Amino acid sequence: MKYDGIVIGGGPAGMMAAITAARRGSRVLLLERNGRLGKKLLITGKGRCNLTNDCTSQEVLRNVPRNGRFLFSVMTAFPPEETKTFFESRGCPLKTERGNRVFPVSDRAQSVLSCLEKELRGNHVFIGNERVKRILTENGHITGVDVGKTQYNADWVILATGGVSYPATGSTGDGYTLAQTLGHTIVPPEGNLVPLECTGEDCPDMQGLSLRNVGVRLFDNRGKILYQDFGELLFTHFGVSGPTVLSASCHLKGEGCRLVLDLKPALDEGKLDSRILRDLDTYRNRSMENALTDLLPRSMIPVILRRLQIHPELQANGLTKQKRRELVSLLKNFSLDISGKRPVAEAIITSGGIKVSEIDPKTMESKLVSGLYFAGEVIDCDAYTGGFNLQIAWATGFASGKSASEKSANPG
Ligand SMILES: Cc1cc2nc3c(=O)[nH]c(=O)nc-3n(C[C@H](O)[C@H](O)[C@H](O)COP(=O)(O)OP(=O)(O)OC[C@H]3O[C@@H](n4cnc5c(N)ncnc54)[C@H](O)[C@@H]3O)c2cc1C
Repeated sequence: MKYDGIVIGGGPAGMMAAITAARRGSRVLLLERNGRLGKKLLITGKGRCNLTNDCTSQEVLRNVPRNGRFLFSVMTAFPPEETKTFFESRGCPLKTERGNRVFPVSDRAQSVLSCLEKELRGNHVFIGNERVKRILTENGHITGVDVGKTQYNADWVILATGGVSYPATGSTGDGYTLAQTLGHTIVPPEGNLVPLECTGEDCPDMQGLSLRNVGVRLFDNRGKILYQDFGELLFTHFGVSGPTVLSASCHLKGEGCRLVLDLKPALDEGKLDSRILRDLDTYRNRSMENALTDLLPRSMIPVILRRLQIHPELQANGLTKQKRRELVSLLKNFSLDISGKRPVAEAIITSGGIKVSEIDPKTMESKLVSGLYFAGEVIDCDAYTGGFNLQIAWATGFASGKSASEKSANPG
């Protein structure tokens, strides 16, 4: 059977691309290797799906540390406002939370997926449960795809196979091989928005401890500051995770990086010292491990005392002025040596992928193969948390679907 176009990958980018092309009259086949669409979409935002960020397209691009400029045209054409209108006008009401993060009112990613599935059906997109093995070309033009036992013919193909993170969702990097075979360059994929591993016993000793308001600074091995942030952080058995750490991971460079935490960002050193003096006075007859309970979470106290070489049984009124100063300094500059990122499989996003200089930034069409388009995470672009990565999927999905359908209308 002949289709106008084929979309490979039924994630957010592929679904948006298929809907956009079909709405413009193209006969579209969407091929997804999993038995169901949007497997990764369902786990986004802890199952609530932070589907975009309520901000301008310029603000989105400021949150894309890698190849943001490449996205200028498509993000201007399909900004967060369009994403919101797309879903709200199709019966999926949205709400905006802290940091302008947009979620479905239902708090269920399933609502977002159901909305897309309904739209696919309504626009008569054919859906096949197949894994694409090869993209077929003739004289530099797309002719179809090969799924092993059969081939499908089409004038264009949109490659929306995602990256290599969370491979159980189907994103195993097939798109890289498919594009490489056609001459595209793949920027080596690596995990981003990924937890960080730290050396030493401190993190395992505090595992499970989540801090809501912490200042985070990332330094390279020369002491140059690479990133700073403020917000939530979680200690784990291997190191640290949480939104601030995931964002910091995008800026990690080389070996020997350090995270320095400000555990009391609301207090400057003077105020913190006064606060500690007050606690030490109130609890002067308690041991140090019991005198700091108003100031610090329980599981952090032994770690702090160990770093300062203060015996936990020392009576609070026996703490020297020097040790108190060291305590203040440590709470404002709690340093963790990073030994590396967690594996890419645990990353929220894959950085790397199809080299952007080989893609037309207005249409998402390959500059090497006529009729081949790209959408979503398979492209070498990635953003911080906050709904920006899905916004990239919607915007590139829309641009590729629109340009591809125009190709069907005006072939050659
Ligand atoms: C735990 C987690 C939470 C996240 N939360 C958020 C969030 O709240 N907000 C946000 O903006 N982003 C979030 N992200 C990132 C977001 O999920 C991705 O940016 C987005 O899913 C990328 O969409 P995509 O369509 O490009 O790729 P994917 O969603 O990976 O979809 C690609 C699809 O292609 C299919 N496929 C692959 N190879 C083939 C083949 N050969 N043939 C056929 N089909 C194939 C796969 O099975 C898959 O279904 C999160 C990611 C994770 C892992």
